[in-house]
Amino acid sequence: MLRLTVNGHPCEVATGATLLDALRVAGAEIPTLCHDPRLEPCGACRLCVVEVKGALRPVTACNSPAEAGMEITTHTAALEATRRTNLKLLAQHYPAGHAAAFPDKEFHRQLRAYGVAAADARTANSRAAADDSNPYIRVDMSMCIDCFRCIRICDEVQGQFVWQAWQRGDATVIRPDSGTTLRDSSCVSCGACVDTCPTGALEDKSLLASGAATDWTRTTCPYCGVGCEMMVGTRDARIVDVRPAPDAPVNKGHLCVKGRYAYGFTHSPERVTEPMIRGQDGWRAVGWPEALAFVADHFRRLIAQHGPDSIGVLGSARATNEDNYLTQKFARVVLGTNNVDCCARVCHAPTAAAMKAMLGTGAATNSFDDIERAQAFLLCGTNATENHPIVGARIRQAVLRGAKLIVIDPREIELTKLAAIHLALRPGTNVPLLNAIACTIIEERLWDETAVRDRIADWDAYRKFIADFQPEKIAAICGVEAAQIRAAARLYAGAAPAMCFHGLGMTEHSQGTEGVMCLVNLALLTGNFGKPGAGVNPLRGQNNVQGAAHMGCEPGVLTGLVTLDEGRTLFESVWRAPLPATRGLNLMQMLDAAPGGSLKALWSIGYDVLHTNPNAHATARALDGLEFVIVQDLFFNEIARECATVFLPAASSFEKDGTFMNSERRVQRVRRAVPPPGGAKADWEIICEVARAMDRSDAFPFRSAEEVWEEIRAVWPAGRGITYARLDQAGIQWPCPSEDHPGTKILHAKEFSGGPRAPLKRVGFTPSAEGLTPEFPFLLNTGRTLYQFNAGTMTMRTPNAELRPRDTLDLAPADAKRLGLHDGDLVRVRSRRGAAELPVRISPAVKAGELFATFHSAQTSLNRVTSAERDNVTATPEYKVTAVSVERIGNGAPLRPTPPAIGENLR
Ligand code: SF4
Repeated sequence: MLRLTVNGHPCEVATGATLLDALRVAGAEIPTLCHDPRLEPCGACRLCVVEVKGALRPVTACNSPAEAGMEITTHTAALEATRRTNLKLLAQHYPAGHAAAFPDKEFHRQLRAYGVAAADARTANSRAAADDSNPYIRVDMSMCIDCFRCIRICDEVQGQFVWQAWQRGDATVIRPDSGTTLRDSSCVSCGACVDTCPTGALEDKSLLASGAATDWTRTTCPYCGVGCEMMVGTRDARIVDVRPAPDAPVNKGHLCVKGRYAYGFTHSPERVTEPMIRGQDGWRAVGWPEALAFVADHFRRLIAQHGPDSIGVLGSARATNEDNYLTQKFARVVLGTNNVDCCARVCHAPTAAAMKAMLGTGAATNSFDDIERAQAFLLCGTNATENHPIVGARIRQAVLRGAKLIVIDPREIELTKLAAIHLALRPGTNVPLLNAIACTIIEERLWDETAVRDRIADWDAYRKFIADFQPEKIAAICGVEAAQIRAAARLYAGAAPAMCFHGLGMTEHSQGTEGVMCLVNLALLTGNFGKPGAGVNPLRGQNNVQGAAHMGCEPGVLTGLVTLDEGRTLFESVWRAPLPATRGLNLMQMLDAAPGGSLKALWSIGYDVLHTNPNAHATARALDGLEFVIVQDLFFNEIARECATVFLPAASSFEKDGTFMNSERRVQRVRRAVPPPGGAKADWEIICEVARAMDRSDAFPFRSAEEVWEEIRAVWPAGRGITYARLDQAGIQWPCPSEDHPGTKILHAKEFSGGPRAPLKRVGFTPSAEGLTPEFPFLLNTGRTLYQFNAGTMTMRTPNAELRPRDTLDLAPADAKRLGLHDGDLVRVRSRRGAAELPVRISPAVKAGELFATFHSAQTSLNRVTSAERDNVTATPEYKVTAVSVERIGNGAPLRPTPPAIGENLR
């Protein structure tokens, strides 16, 4: 610690602190303009000047290091005069009208504080016309004071390099990299520049339209599994602004376009606000009492006639932990069935299965804060900058600072431009590729001696097994050069520590679980576990995938991912009810059972199975065979439109309390910022009301989300120390067994959850049964994009739809030429299971013979095409490998490149 004085008062700061840090510790307020704690200080505006005893002239506090014994003075007449002069220079061309219109802007506050007037109409700046091209951000550089915060935050935090200073001296003007409009630039609309701008040069259009927020609520993002914390600004019970929570450990004062701007769905006129029942004459709105009685009567009748296993219940990765806990409790305690599942089935169930089998815990081993500690990254099947943008931005910054990057992905993604090695494997060949990396590690003696000696089991058998996977033998199977595979092995094993991230490109394969096992093998062999900057870290797609499964929305496990047998005694005592005796069905098994008549009813909570499940014709046939389908959601989605008998209107996460669990096992609060519309209710409330209608109020007495959480703590030993009171201070990563436990950032440090040693798994390769033929010569891979989210239910009802209006089929220029296709041409994609129509986007990011498409839009319904194959352990569908044909059905207008050419400046 360093001791110094500020205005005569002693204070202490840590070594490495700046003078500004010291002033803030001492409570001495000085003005700043170019400073933002998220950025490297630069001392450009010189408002933070202070006097240091012995120094010849004043120094800028923001970028001057504190030293022991310094005597700092902050408010002499000379310093104040310097600040006023500097402000006058900045204000000499600044439009006075703007200062009056936005009184709370940092710059405007300083002008008032120092009595400095902005310019009148004659001398006011008119350097650039306003740019309204971006749907969210209004640019008006007549208010720019050249603090360069927008340039710096875009470079240093987002890593997009959009804003640039053009020309020099007085002629300097800040413009996007396009040189023209923001819409035509490589901007990804994260809003960081708006957030840091101290004037009004960059402003949210929503604020210009609605006025500033009057109330703020801290909550967690409703989109991906990164789990960014945000401040939701409201006015007259409507959301008008969202800003990043400045001290959030995950996002550190940053958000992506979805979290920052895509909240408009909350107030969409298409929200369903009253319960609905479908009769002979179509849908009719009903009151809650009628809807609840209707549901309860049907459940009672079905149980009496066909038994409890004739009903299935689906939880949701978009719902809270409390919602999902009650979903599975309802299925088991009220209905008496283990037929309960959630959308983790179609994404990360293979991750949980593989990591549980090998390490004892089916969850990320490390934390996002390890990104800044890793020397190298191995990214497998994850397009992080589009699907997990805040993690993607943190990885990109780490790589720009010198960490090495290996990308395993069939396509060129944004991060491949920064990668030392890109293994553009053939889709479906993760297992042989990762085995070939393991083989190289062993052949070239690159393994970690200590890890192999002390922490690993089955070494000899594995070593013998893996010798067959020499890169030179495997290269042709994967479509990757052997030398590249060996180089990747050397880089990953040679960097200490190295961190793996993986996504659905690993799991949504018929060998999904096996692929994750191969990845875990690599971490074990190289000692990349149980320490900072290492580990195997699944990036979960939706915000609460980890939580939904963890709460027990799986047929074979209860809350905390304990098996039914392991948890029986504890759960039966807390629930005061027996667990169902029969094995439950997972989602895919429920759909298989429906056509044969053994499943009669489905309650689908926040999960549009019809739109998002692959092989949609088969899904539709299965759902068609059901007698009774309840859909509980925000909008009348595809499953509701086609199959539902009852619709129960649910509250969004902005409208209820609860918790989410992010990809790094962090439980964080969800808080109600606005009331739900009309009669919509939180999912957990609806479940309680249905239980009460079935005379089980004894088991569902909950009056708040916190009361539900208290019961979760009672049945989940690893979460027992997590209380709402603690979560109100900060999110906590489990395991956290007691209220004085700080939570766990890194798993498996001393021993694995499954025991002292983890087994290396000998994973052979069985190729997907979905083979290419002359009739179906293209391999279709599916995924997501930055601007849309999953079924598009939420993002399609926001201006994100302008940024990414519809699904496209990406195909290689060589294939486009061969087929005579042009950008925007409408094509029919046909597989063995069905066809879909969508426009072509010619993209060098995909290889010849391969295609990539999203399935965000119900209009496209791409899942009529996707495969029926499933992971051989968890039944997770193989979305990533479908053999298809492509034929042109119409000429189209050239497509605007969507998303914009992101990362163009990094090339
Ligand atoms: Fe939300 Fe994910 Fe974007 Fe963070 S990275 S703001 S959690 S969508």
